[in-house]
Amino acid sequence: MDKKINLLFVDDEEQFLLSLSKQLEARDFHVIAVNRGEKALEVAEKEPIDVALVDLKMPGINGEETLKALKSAHEWMEIVILTGHGNIDSAVECTKSGAYCYLQKPCRIDELLEVLKDAYKKKVMNKNRIEEKKMNEMLRLSQSDSPRAILRRLKEIDKGAGD
Ligand SMILES: [Mg+2]
Repeated sequence: MDKKINLLFVDDEEQFLLSLSKQLEARDFHVIAVNRGEKALEVAEKEPIDVALVDLKMPGINGEETLKALKSAHEWMEIVILTGHGNIDSAVECTKSGAYCYLQKPCRIDELLEVLKDAYKKKVMNKNRIEEKKMNEMLRLSQSDSPRAILRRLKEIDKGAGD
C-alpha cells in the first residue's frame, strides 16, 4: 500500500476543520487536525509532517506567524494557506514568507487536492536536495584526516537537516 501523505491542518473553525479533515482522510491523506497555530508547531516537532494546510486568521499566533515558524524549523516542509479573509497584501506576504500556495475559502476539494499533492511532490524534492547536500559534504569529509573532526561535523550536518 502506498504511504499516505502526512498533512498538518490548522484552522480555528472547528466544524470546517473536522469536515474537511474527513474528506482528506478519505483521499490518501493522514490528517492531524489542530485548532491553534501553537498546537501546530508542537505537532510538527513530534510528527513527520509532509505538508501543512494553514488558516490565516486564528486567535493566538496567526497563520502567517505559524507559516514562518514552521518554515524556519522544518525547511523542506511545504505550507498551503487556506483563508476566508484573503487579500492581495496577505497573499504577497505569505508567498514572501515561503508559502507554497495561497487559496481562498470556499475552495473546491479537487483543486485543494491537486495543490496539496503538488506541494507534497515539492517537499520530496526539497528533502532529496537537502539529503544530497548532506551526502556531498560527507563525501568531502571522508577525505579529511581527523576522525574526530569528521564526527563533529557529521553531527552538525545531521542536526541542521532535521529529521
Ligand atoms: Mg480562522
